[in-house]
Amino acid sequence: MKVGLFFGSFNPIHTGHLIIANYMATQTDLDCVWLVVSPQNPLKNKASLAGDYDRLTMVRLAIDDNPALQASDIEFGLPKPSYTIDTLTYLQEKHPTYEFALIMGGDNIATLHKWKNYEQILNNYEIYVYQRPEYDLGELAEHKNVHVYEAPLMQISATYIRKCLREGKSIKYLVSDKVMEEIMAGHLYQ
Ligand code: ATP
Repeated sequence: MKVGLFFGSFNPIHTGHLIIANYMATQTDLDCVWLVVSPQNPLKNKASLAGDYDRLTMVRLAIDDNPALQASDIEFGLPKPSYTIDTLTYLQEKHPTYEFALIMGGDNIATLHKWKNYEQILNNYEIYVYQRPEYDLGELAEHKNVHVYEAPLMQISATYIRKCLREGKSIKYLVSDKVMEEIMAGHLYQ
């Protein structure tokens, strides 16, 4: 089974993330996509970051009707901050029969050369990149393990959603209905 890993803080998960995750799970040779929720970094106490389990719950709620998508809390139990290569190595040991691949935006592939052990990542894992119009992909996009896709994009960010919530504005359609209900019930970001 070929599993695409889509990492994020998902603070909160929004329609832009869901479009990419579903596109990669259904329009490439990936069998499924795991949305890997990044835990709080104890060195960066970011006030606007909702709790790890609140963000995990929102991811689960957002995708519970989509069998091709799964939420992962794997990084919650790993040393923090978590580096992608360490998470990949751990996952590969835990699931030796699965083939793991990374999903990232054009913004991330352009700076991949700054990641810990990026050459090991590139040489051992396939990378599924979706173009972002405002970013050049850079030369690593030419690597044989990098596949570039033109996925539909929504120009929204979690930062914008949190701003709307602080200002008492509607976030309908920016997040799924169940995620919106969870945010309202938990008074998150308000
Ligand atoms: P924030 O605004 O809080 O920085 P975000 O909306 O960028 O958050 P992340 O959890 O950081 O969300 O996103 C996870 C991954 O999804 C990142 O690699 C990010 O670049 C990408 N991403 C975020 N928003 C979009 C979007 N609208 N379309 C496609 N990819 C996105």
